[in-house]
Amino acid sequence: MVIIVKHRTGEAQVDNLVKWLEDKNLRVQKTVGEFQTILGLIGDTSKLDEDVIRSMGIVEDLRRIQKPYKNASRDFHPDDTIVDVNGVKVGGGNFAIIAGPCSVESEEQLSFTAEQVKEFGADMLRGGAFKPRTSPYSFQGMGEEGIQLLLKAKEVTGLPIVTEIMDPEHLPLFKNVDVIQVGARNMQNFELLKKLGKLNKPILLKRGFSSTIEEFLMSAEYIMAGGNGNVILCERGIRTFETYTRNTLDLLAVSVLKQLTHLPVIVDPSHATGIAQYVAPMSLASAAAGADGLIIEVHHDPAHALCDGPQSLTPLQFKELRGKVDKVLAAVK
Ligand code: PEP
Ligand code: MN
Repeated sequence: MVIIVKHRTGEAQVDNLVKWLEDKNLRVQKTVGEFQTILGLIGDTSKLDEDVIRSMGIVEDLRRIQKPYKNASRDFHPDDTIVDVNGVKVGGGNFAIIAGPCSVESEEQLSFTAEQVKEFGADMLRGGAFKPRTSPYSFQGMGEEGIQLLLKAKEVTGLPIVTEIMDPEHLPLFKNVDVIQVGARNMQNFELLKKLGKLNKPILLKRGFSSTIEEFLMSAEYIMAGGNGNVILCERGIRTFETYTRNTLDLLAVSVLKQLTHLPVIVDPSHATGIAQYVAPMSLASAAAGADGLIIEVHHDPAHALCDGPQSLTPLQFKELRGKVDKVLAAVK
């Protein structure tokens, strides 16, 4: 971190600041220029409160040189992390596709969809049991029963299951869930993130719809700081001025994230677009942009889905897309 001291600050005031910093176990390299004094801090600055320093009368500006997300940063971990989900690898050249319904609706619906997506090349099964709905009057998910149905589908198909947690109190129900999803609305539920950091289980962390890339990585850092390094990031569209589509897919974030972090990055083209017709092109674009996987909503009868039907693919549409994704992956290899 570098602190730029205001022009014409007295030497004694600068020395006070230096002393304050040294008391925090930092070494301070003072460079006195003709117009400005610059303090270069050496040591662990991660616990320094930037706002406190900025608010000091003698401080002109402050710049971080190192990333505030030490565990997630590629600077400290140059090789790609490969998250292993019961044998299904994500990251480091391993592309994984998660498919299944937005929400678990019934045993028939889930078991049929699970078998179809398995047959058509999905690597994992998704399905929400606890649904974060905008309206309290909308279908809220089957809850614990939904998780039981997912576990049954896992037993039959052998596909690892991915499902969203909303309340840390539900954690015991997720004991046999392979990947715990943190949805966009909970990306900054820090108490939840801290609890997930204590587990030794893969976490699928979705980007909040108004979150910057740095905020997204800081949320991953919360999980990693607790000791759980099995984090898969998911770009799922952000909120912009555009209203034609449900969200705006920030595909550029995939490339930026791949540069900033060693964690695998997947894309959710279903929530990013909100319209089934655009799921295939955005999936192909994601594969071309270097994503490590996709999470796609598939429903056997989208017109009658209890949640997110308009963005759901039919199993046959998913089959067609899977074939095309493989061609793009081969082309960009
Ligand atoms: C979901 O995957 O079902 C979901 C609710 O996604 P998001 O949190 O990205 O809106
Ligand atoms: Mn959904």
